Amino acid sequence: MTNGFLDSTHNYLTMQQFLDINQNNLVEFASHSINHPNLNALSLDAAREEIAGSKLALEKILNKKIEHYSYPYGSYSNDLIKIVREAGFKTASTTDLGIGQSYPNRYKLKRIRPGSLTGHALLQFLQQN
Ligand SMILES: [Zn+2]
Repeated sequence: MTNGFLDSTHNYLTMQQFLDINQNNLVEFASHSINHPNLNALSLDAAREEIAGSKLALEKILNKKIEHYSYPYGSYSNDLIKIVREAGFKTASTTDLGIGQSYPNRYKLKRIRPGSLTGHALLQFLQQN
């Protein structure tokens, strides 16, 4: 969730939609910054505000812990991983393609981006990885 986009004109979720979806136990929101910047282009203090600030804002809105982070544009570094860990997140997702996860890599989780692999190509990827 990029909380700075809530109720914006970006064809994004409204606050009411966000709260409604949160009622579904099958969905868990993760933090995705306040303004969706490329965090590697910011100072570490500004990146910390985007990362920790979004966590605090979402926790205040939902009144529950936000434990997972996703780097905008998949942009991360060792400094950003440290900030994410210190902010109290348990995991963080990148845009690096893959499905293999491990505890030591919990702050640079791989994933399959929506739309990047579908149908037969997705099945083939899952069988080979
Ligand atoms: Zn994004």
